[in-house]
Amino acid sequence: MCPSHRGSEASTGGDERKMATTKTKISETAKKECESFMSGLRKRNPGETEFHQAVEEVAESLMPFILDNPKYQEAQILERLTEPDRIIIFRVSWLDDTGHYRVNRGYRVQCNNAIGPYKGGLRFHPSVNLSILKFLAFEQTLKNSLTTLPMGGAKGGANFNPKDKSSNEVMRFCQSFMTELAKHIGKDLDVPAGDIGVGEREIGYLFGHYVRIANEFTGAMTGKGIPFGGSHIRKEATGFGCVYFVEEMLNRKDESVQGKTCIVSGSGNVAQHTIEKVCHLGGKVVTASDSGGFIYDPDGIQEERLDYLMDLKNKRRGRVFEYAEKFGCDYFEGKRPWGVPADIAFPCATQYEIAEEDAQSLVRNGITAVAEGANMPSSSDAVNVFLNAKILYGPSKAANAGGVTVSGLEQTQNAQRFSWTRGEVDTKLQGIMKAIHEQCVKYGEEGDWVNYVNGANLGGFVRVADAMLAYGIV
Ligand code: NAP
Repeated sequence: MCPSHRGSEASTGGDERKMATTKTKISETAKKECESFMSGLRKRNPGETEFHQAVEEVAESLMPFILDNPKYQEAQILERLTEPDRIIIFRVSWLDDTGHYRVNRGYRVQCNNAIGPYKGGLRFHPSVNLSILKFLAFEQTLKNSLTTLPMGGAKGGANFNPKDKSSNEVMRFCQSFMTELAKHIGKDLDVPAGDIGVGEREIGYLFGHYVRIANEFTGAMTGKGIPFGGSHIRKEATGFGCVYFVEEMLNRKDESVQGKTCIVSGSGNVAQHTIEKVCHLGGKVVTASDSGGFIYDPDGIQEERLDYLMDLKNKRRGRVFEYAEKFGCDYFEGKRPWGVPADIAFPCATQYEIAEEDAQSLVRNGITAVAEGANMPSSSDAVNVFLNAKILYGPSKAANAGGVTVSGLEQTQNAQRFSWTRGEVDTKLQGIMKAIHEQCVKYGEEGDWVNYVNGANLGGFVRVADAMLAYGIV
């Protein structure tokens, strides 16, 4: 047993989940090390399936590299990286509009701050649990490292659904949530942002309450409105960045987004600005979805149709079937768009939205590129299908790093008490997405194909790991 897996040694495991065998051609030794490591991790974190999957994918990528570089193994970097620095769980009590007491559970998972203050979004959604937040905080740590900016990794949120609440209820919930969270964040400590269910409105309530409690105005949150310290392009950053990343992948093969047919899932923040940027670059998006189903618009979601979709989802908080009714196109209730033939797929809704059979259908229909706007939208088996088919597969930690990139740029602007123009921020975002792509190629090149999963994992890992090595035992 190698020294890096002493924690795993104690657990005989008996775990029957099959290891992905085809993703990367790793040696038998590396495979065994992964199995042993994962067996221990599952035992220490029972039932946390999302966290298991996220770590397993990374461990498979990293293990050959770690075995070749014993300094990481001796210092137990992977074990330390998968044990969050700190997890805060708290009760959030609030009063609904009918005067009834309501209780939710709030979380902040501070995964690692070796290269900068903790940074990662807050998610308000009924599905939020510890497993999901641990997976997101772990992924965020590597993603933030990839951006080249000084940001550690964290994630938080609550099992609260803002969708069926009034604005006053959302405000009361946010204020109660922040009353506890404020004790654990700060501009040099932990800087949360938005995520699913936490948009401009929620950030306003959260940050407003933080300023009141802390009695100071500092950049302790990002994703803020422009009048109170927000950055231009933050709202658009994840979607724009995702399309910039695809453009980089395609350019490397002398292709571009121009003229390509694209399918997008979701119709929230990431989906909307992915659609917007695809249109700018001359591509056509034919689908959008929400948790009710998807619409197929063969004419393309563009110009006034995109304006309508944005207004529908952002202002009227409506459903995508209303788009189909308005523009006379097809709506597929309870379905996802992965059976629609296209050149590029952008999963931009949520985790686990592409199963193995969806991935097979995408490949069968000739998809050239998949870029994950959402976090971990593809199951392990689906990722295997993409890697085996050797398509251009941009995993979330690289493809959707644009959001946190502009959050990092918002922190810089706040620290300088200065703001850059829209054009300046967009140029910096493009430059950083290019740099992320270059790191993926550097670490993931396999002949004339790039394994972007390995590239992103290794690129993100090395910087954090080297900082941890420098710190000694912490
Ligand atoms: P959002 O504005 O809340 O939109 C989420 C979208 O996903 C909505 O269209 C929602 O439909 C749909 N959705 C949610 N759960 C679903 C389910 N179980 N099945 C099908 N559709 C579902 O959130 P967002 O900010 O766009 O985030 C989307 C994804 O991107 C998440 O994975 C998030 O972690 C990731 N991400 C976001 C950012 C960012 O800057 N916002 C940055 C990096 C990564 P309904 O309207 O029906 O709920």
